Amino acid sequence: MPEGDAVWYTARRLHEALAGRPLTRSDFRVPRFATADLTGDVVTETVSRGKHLLTRTSGGLTVHTHLRMDGSWRIRPAAERMADSHRIRLVLANREWQAIGYSLGVVELVRTSQEAEVTGHLGPDLLGPDWDCAEAVRRLGAEPDRPVGEALLDQRNLAGIGNIYKAEVLFLRGINPWRRTGDVADLAAVADLAQRLLEANKERLGQVTTGNPRRGEETWVYGRRGRPCRRCGTPIRSEGQQDRITFWCPSCQV
Ligand SMILES: [Zn+2]
Repeated sequence: MPEGDAVWYTARRLHEALAGRPLTRSDFRVPRFATADLTGDVVTETVSRGKHLLTRTSGGLTVHTHLRMDGSWRIRPAAERMADSHRIRLVLANREWQAIGYSLGVVELVRTSQEAEVTGHLGPDLLGPDWDCAEAVRRLGAEPDRPVGEALLDQRNLAGIGNIYKAEVLFLRGINPWRRTGDVADLAAVADLAQRLLEANKERLGQVTTGNPRRGEETWVYGRRGRPCRRCGTPIRSEGQQDRITFWCPSCQV
């Protein structure tokens, strides 16, 4: 599942291909917006808000998309013949580029003035221009009994963390994912580290938290069940937490 940094990167690619140009074609392949047509509208920008993508047009409309589990956007030259696929949910094209959205979990059209209806619930955006660590800490702290691993994934607390960064941040801070949020002494340090990891990774594809981009060396605990902890050698454990799997070192994280 793409995390905030990958969504930020996708927003930038969409922005570069679409912004400042009139759309020559739009093709919404979702029932609710099957008849929508943005042809002639100029795309003003694409931005990310947490894991949401907002593509705004001069007509006062916003195309809201979300990658969810395995959505993706591909950008190809407009002249290239597009292989049709039942996974395509949306096509936005101008004279130079076509942006093709595959398996998008959300495709909808909202008034730009009413974007808050789709993103207003989000906590501070880790990669947003208005990142507010104190507000994120306040929200995290509002449910002290909740396991911290769950709280970090809740986009209403802070927006952009997915399963990889959750596991990695908690390892780096020595915190067990089931520890009560109220028992985490320094939530600000947790939020700040998450922000710095996303920031460090946003310009590239793939997530590296160890500083080593070599395949198989990118993470401390994520995806490493049964392998020795890189710090202490204890086998890494994994277990379901809510509806996701979390990874941790039972020795380093208490
Ligand atoms: Zn360890």
